[in-house]
Amino acid sequence: MRIGQGYDAHRFAEGRPLVLGGVRIPHDMGLAAHSDGDVLIHALCDALLGAAGLGDIGRHFPDSSAEFAGIDSRILLRRVVARLQRDGMWVVNADMTVVAQSPKLAPHIAGMREALASDLQLEPSRVNIKATTTEGMGFAGRGEGIAAYAVALVED
Ligand code: MG
Repeated sequence: MRIGQGYDAHRFAEGRPLVLGGVRIPHDMGLAAHSDGDVLIHALCDALLGAAGLGDIGRHFPDSSAEFAGIDSRILLRRVVARLQRDGMWVVNADMTVVAQSPKLAPHIAGMREALASDLQLEPSRVNIKATTTEGMGFAGRGEGIAAYAVALVED
């Protein structure tokens, strides 16, 4: 068994769709990024790569590369899973926390869980997603952006 953790944060920006956990969420702002800004998937990819001892998402998908401009982060996640499988590793479970003051994420958690479980080739019961605010404290609390934490267990 191998464990990995990941963290990511992105700043809100006008005129972008908000995509979290592979789900498009109605909001007046999205997250600024080279990709679609799916901060939750980025944290999850880093947890998986960390467990596998394969560095981080920036090493595999550099934001200097035009190939990844505006890319659906689910494609990156599926590539990470394939990379692990190539090394004889498979994901056992993943647990994540999204930190956002707004919008309310509870109605979207089930959809995110289903999307990520599908990309991870897992039953949804092995993929857990939690959402919290910071009661107004810090950058997430001020609504400047969204952060995400992920932990993943991998077997080899
Ligand atoms: Mg990111």
